[in-house]
Amino acid sequence: MSILESEREPEGSATWHRGCLRRPARGLLSFLLVLAAVVGCGEPPPPGGYPSPSKTRVDEFAVIEQRLIDQGKALVAGDEAGWLAAVDPDDEKLVQHYRDLFRTLRALHVTRWDLTFWIPPIFSGAQANNVNVDVWYCLATTPCPEVKKSDRGVQGPVPQVRMVLNFGIRGPYAQYLITDLRRPEADSLAARPTPWESGQLRVTDGTRVTVAAPPGQEDRLSEAVAAGDRAAAVTDRYARLLGKQPPARYLVYLAGDKEWATWNGGGPGRHYAGYAHESGRLQYEVVVRTSSETDLTDLLRHEFGHVATLTGADRAGASVVDVYKWLTEGIAEYIESQGASPTARPTMTAARDWLRGQRRMTKLGLWPLTPQANQKEITAFYGISHLAVDCMARRYGEDNMFAFFSGVMHRRQSPYDVSPTAYREDWDTVQRTCITQIYRTLRL
Ligand SMILES: [Zn+2]
Repeated sequence: MSILESEREPEGSATWHRGCLRRPARGLLSFLLVLAAVVGCGEPPPPGGYPSPSKTRVDEFAVIEQRLIDQGKALVAGDEAGWLAAVDPDDEKLVQHYRDLFRTLRALHVTRWDLTFWIPPIFSGAQANNVNVDVWYCLATTPCPEVKKSDRGVQGPVPQVRMVLNFGIRGPYAQYLITDLRRPEADSLAARPTPWESGQLRVTDGTRVTVAAPPGQEDRLSEAVAAGDRAAAVTDRYARLLGKQPPARYLVYLAGDKEWATWNGGGPGRHYAGYAHESGRLQYEVVVRTSSETDLTDLLRHEFGHVATLTGADRAGASVVDVYKWLTEGIAEYIESQGASPTARPTMTAARDWLRGQRRMTKLGLWPLTPQANQKEITAFYGISHLAVDCMARRYGEDNMFAFFSGVMHRRQSPYDVSPTAYREDWDTVQRTCITQIYRTLRL
């Protein structure tokens, strides 16, 4: 058996900035809605008002924008009719898809669904096609902060996805309604598809976890919920040790091999059994490969260990070179083991074999793995990282090891700056001490 896990960063650059269309003044929009209501006298106005023949295309876009804003509010409020009111009622397939999305997102405890609009679409007759919308959302994350303009187009505190919609004049009130919803060809904001966007998930809550399964994986739900709650009881404690609130809920997606290969841009491959995916700085989601034979509680302790220790950390740059991967994996292994000595772990043989074939370590942390790394290299990496973190905890105290982690990962300080405060020794001494300890433990 081997360590079969990893975490992925979203694909694409996290620093791609783009311009944004400023939304029209609300005063103009309110005036149009009142005007539209007057035009349709005798009946109550439909949501978003009647189309007005006098308005310009910019005004029409404002109506479309408001319809989507209202739709998002309806989702968060649990108002299914309000959510569906934006969709062409004659397109049964599309209505069903939106119904599925509503059910899935509500079950995943959606707490925010805000929108950013880009350039207006090209209107063609009664159609407005290719409306690009960025959605900021939170699942099971509380509090879910309102996002700032400066977070637009970058990896921010909460997840974002881009959607492309078509609108047409539809329905009994001849309004602009959604006639198509699709993924953009490229989305720099998120690794796609997200697990939830198919709308085809069955979701079950535990006490501390929410577990979602696609068709074919539902029979693992109750087992995963029980394992997740057991794991969370341990990892919550480590979050507090770090001085942080545990996450409101841990979110777990059970992936069959098909979903493993596609969700979040594709899983990390056959050598892994799960990963903690950073959808936003404040939202991590765990994906589990159900065909792996790893014990689910052990695996979730490791992955929840990432969630408990990394939520809130600014990981910009980690998608290029994750220089502290040894530290994040080491602490996740430490949490999985609940502080027990790594010597009994199945990673030790690979760690020993690997170190024996290399020049002696001079730095405590190994360079991150390449995507081409084989099973033995991956296992050795996890084992040596675990030994490094375990040494820091034993030698200098668990509290101080967590203080060191917090300084490096959450305050983005150099180990050289953090070490004298956290460990009362300079980083060179700590490294030398722990490298000696690692070789001694492995009898090298
Ligand atoms: Zn990990």
